[in-house]
Amino acid sequence: MNWDEFSKWGARISDWAKGYHTTLRDRPVRAQVAPGDILRQLPETPPTTGGAMEDVFADFENIVMPGITHWQHPRFFAYFPANATPPSMLADYLATVVAPQCMLWQTSPAATEMETRMLQWLRQSLGLADHFEGVIQDSASTATLAAVLTMRERALAWKGNEEGLAGLDTLRIYCSEEVHTSVDRAIWIAGIGQNNLRRVPTQGPLRSMQPEALEATIKEDIANGLKPAGIVACVGGTGTGGCDDVSAVCDIAAKFDLYVHVDAAWAGAAMICPEYRHYWTGIDKADSVVFNPHKWLGMQFDCSAHFVKNPDDLVRTLAIRPEYLKTHGADGIINYSEWSVPLGRRFRALKIWFVLRVYGIEGLQAMIRNHVAWAEELHDLLAQESDFEILTAPVLSLFTFRYAPEGAKDLDELNQRLVDAINDDGRIYLTQTRVAGALVIRFQAGQVDATREDILLALEVIQEIARDLR
Ligand SMILES: *Cc1c(COP(=O)(O)O)cnc(C)c1O
Repeated sequence: MNWDEFSKWGARISDWAKGYHTTLRDRPVRAQVAPGDILRQLPETPPTTGGAMEDVFADFENIVMPGITHWQHPRFFAYFPANATPPSMLADYLATVVAPQCMLWQTSPAATEMETRMLQWLRQSLGLADHFEGVIQDSASTATLAAVLTMRERALAWKGNEEGLAGLDTLRIYCSEEVHTSVDRAIWIAGIGQNNLRRVPTQGPLRSMQPEALEATIKEDIANGLKPAGIVACVGGTGTGGCDDVSAVCDIAAKFDLYVHVDAAWAGAAMICPEYRHYWTGIDKADSVVFNPHKWLGMQFDCSAHFVKNPDDLVRTLAIRPEYLKTHGADGIINYSEWSVPLGRRFRALKIWFVLRVYGIEGLQAMIRNHVAWAEELHDLLAQESDFEILTAPVLSLFTFRYAPEGAKDLDELNQRLVDAINDDGRIYLTQTRVAGALVIRFQAGQVDATREDILLALEVIQEIARDLR
């Protein structure tokens, strides 16, 4: 493809993007296809000779688009958002076009120094203490893995990477039932083993780890000759938004010299509004905190902000410095690949810069405050409906409910049918989770273009489809 053609297609795709985003409400939110529908349309073997971009683009529209679930749809109320704002798309386009690798300072000084400054901006935006230093990880899962590896190495006096885990102390890590599955996977990959992840029971309306139970579990492990390494706390758990008491967790950790990682992948974004910071009181005592600007802040995937109190521990755990990667001559420079598992890194700081400059902190705060207020309004309306039960009250813009009409027998089955019917309808998109064993429906508001009308339409759709089910 020559550059004239590239330029023509670039303009055409920009126009297509505008059309797509401004008519999204006309499409069903969740893809309405069956397994195999897309695969069947893709030839089994690659083309031998090149073809026209026109044909490729036509197939993109005809084959690919029908199989897309529209995450940027204003009535996407499932999972958590994965917002892509226009300035973030433009920044990512530029990063794609320039395509630098940003593993070392010298492999793109601007990318490294932009990353340093943008993580400082984000840290200030969230009200985090200035002893935190940040790095962009590709996902919260990777940040949690990096934190668990750091816990492991710290607890093993930095011998794990060197000697392997056999023959070293058996480590223990603590968390509640509310944490994301990325914690389990980090434990597996770090070689610590699922059986050494202790689940601490929770309490209260925020389903937070019971401090006494946490401390008792740690003491029991020590008495049994096991080695506690760290605690993974959550602020805004995936299922229902559960939040640990970060301050209490950190105080207990300090007694036993444990490393604390806080997963605030979704809820962290809301901390740009000072009035929500009570959800993570004590955060400045944590060793490591992750939140995803690619969720609620519109700095599209992938962009995970990982803050650590002591970068030396992280770098000591992850840095490999073969001769060819050494940056000669400049002292005090940062090589961010030493802070993360992958070596290669995209220029992700650029989209943080674009989005913060175009919307400002106030623009992002207004969006989040609206989502929270509208989700609360929807919650209040549903709570008044006699056929519906609220299972967990809103944590920011997330709550759970279920359909429980009088006389209904199998509520789990009924609610699964309701979620499926709602998603087949397509006007809104919801997912289910379990609360104390019961199947419930999650509602979460967070798409950047969502309006109050979009969110209130959910009430109408839920009621209408529930009525038709019976
Ligand atoms: C989304 C989410 C994750 C996983 O995030 P990735 O960036 O996709 O790895 C982990 N924890 C919580 C609480 C989340 O909301």
